[in-house]
Amino acid sequence: MHPPGPSGHDPTEQGRTKDGPPVSTTDRTSGQAADHAAALRAAGLRVTGPRLATLEVVERRPHADAETVAHAVRERLGTVSRQAVYDVLHALTDAELLRRVLVDGRRSRYELHRHDNHHHLVCRRCGRLEDVPCAVGAAPCLIPHDDLGFDVEVADVVYRGLCSACRERG
Ligand SMILES: [Zn+2]
Ligand SMILES: [Zn+2]
Ligand SMILES: [Zn+2]
Repeated sequence: MHPPGPSGHDPTEQGRTKDGPPVSTTDRTSGQAADHAAALRAAGLRVTGPRLATLEVVERRPHADAETVAHAVRERLGTVSRQAVYDVLHALTDAELLRRVLVDGRRSRYELHRHDNHHHLVCRRCGRLEDVPCAVGAAPCLIPHDDLGFDVEVADVVYRGLCSACRERG
């Protein structure tokens, strides 16, 4: 996942953006910012401020919902609309840089897509949401008895119950 690219300047990325300010990813000291830029390029997406900010926000706040991500990105950039952040979330999800997590019917939550097929534990009382490794590893880890001819690619598994704190409270 970590391309061994040079640590020096990469002038080919400069000034390529059409709908956002040119973004220099080379003057950052954070390796994570560089990783996000590399991931965008690897997915065939231009590196823009809103896309980078969205990836950074989601990395820092895994399982944040769209509203929370939009708020945090707008706090950073100011110039970007809420709808633009929503569009970025969808584009990054389509590109499999982000993974959309659905644990209730009301809202989507987002996390960096690590392609590890991990699942989620959700507390039905306090809403605590935690990652849990897939017991099998690779998708699909569950196969229906009758797949009706489908080529099943993934099984979304959500474990629901009471978290340890809620259990202690009784
Ligand atoms: Zn709980
Ligand atoms: Zn997760
Ligand atoms: Zn699994």
